Amino acid sequence: MKDETRLIHSGRDSAGHIGAVNVPVYRASTLLHPSVETLEGNTLAYGYGRRGTPTTRGLEASICALEEGERTALTPSGLSACTTALMAVLSAGDHLLMVDSVYGPTRSFCNTTLRRFGISTTYYSPTITPDGLHALMQPNTRAVFIESPGSGTFEVQDIPALAAVAHAGGASVLVDNTWATPLLCKPLTLGADLAINAATKYIVGHADALLGTVTANASHVARLMDFHGHFGLTVSGDEAYLGQRGLRTMAVRLARHQETALKLAAWFAARPEVERVLYPALPSDPGHSLWKRDFTGASGLFGVELKPCPKQAVAAMLDGYHLFGMGWSWGGFESLAVTTKLARTVEGGYRPKGPLLRFHAGLEDAGDLIADLEAGFDRLNKVA
Ligand SMILES: *Cc1c(COP(=O)(O)O)cnc(C)c1O
Repeated sequence: MKDETRLIHSGRDSAGHIGAVNVPVYRASTLLHPSVETLEGNTLAYGYGRRGTPTTRGLEASICALEEGERTALTPSGLSACTTALMAVLSAGDHLLMVDSVYGPTRSFCNTTLRRFGISTTYYSPTITPDGLHALMQPNTRAVFIESPGSGTFEVQDIPALAAVAHAGGASVLVDNTWATPLLCKPLTLGADLAINAATKYIVGHADALLGTVTANASHVARLMDFHGHFGLTVSGDEAYLGQRGLRTMAVRLARHQETALKLAAWFAARPEVERVLYPALPSDPGHSLWKRDFTGASGLFGVELKPCPKQAVAAMLDGYHLFGMGWSWGGFESLAVTTKLARTVEGGYRPKGPLLRFHAGLEDAGDLIADLEAGFDRLNKVA
């Protein structure tokens, strides 16, 4: 079965739910047991609401099929998916290798909470070679965390090569795959042990719910489910339903996001105000060949580095957009534009000289979007 078909048919049980095409929303904490035997025996598929309902299990089954994994756990946000994956494999005294271009709040978690629990973090460059990573491995390195392309700077990492080094040293490999979704890249098939998604972005796809997923390969199911269960993580039927509903149309949405992003990226690249477009789908991008090897497509998020210009000129450009909203997050149907602030602590990886912006190509007409962007450069040039 192709992924496009899996997206439509996975995680459904119409016969069990009055013929409803999607599994409906279950809201339940207490589940009544028919006998002392099932009450005490933990033998029912559904014994207590926190441990899942048909709505959450349906979405888990869909994601798991798409990831080609063994088991998926839902978490209340993308950030909690990142932190759950880390907590599932790390213990006091362990060492973590974390990519320097990681999503900011994941970095904060390492520098504060993990540190408080006696877990140390070393950051590595998103352009590191396998030999370079090998040199950073310590006897107590238990996890290598990859995020590809990197947040803000879009470097593509060589997942199979880095995973081989990590595994040789006894470390688990965790990949935050939010940019690509499991439709366009499958980290578990490239050597990862835990694949992470901020489902808030393209899986929900409508900017109206927060959700995360972690999918384990066979060797990591027990560790993932132990932490997830002991920590009491749970997702409501309403949020899970929105994830499942979004997933059904994700293939067509992503195709359109990519088509429009490619148009906008080419248009930006030809502008005199632009230093560089950061988007692995462009043949000129340094990550293009790795992206071509490991991904089957690109999503709608890319970076634009402007030639150095005053802050007020950038503000005039962004403040006046009609179609590009300013807001954190992305992956919904609408176009967005934000300024990007980078936290980088090691050599390597991309360092912009001018202002760095991040654009999300939404599902609007590309010509309308380009007209909005063009008027933005007029405002920028008036101030600059
Ligand atoms: C947005 C994002 C997250 C966090 O997702 P939330 O649902 O906002 O918590 C994690 N990783 C990446 C790469 C993201 O872009």
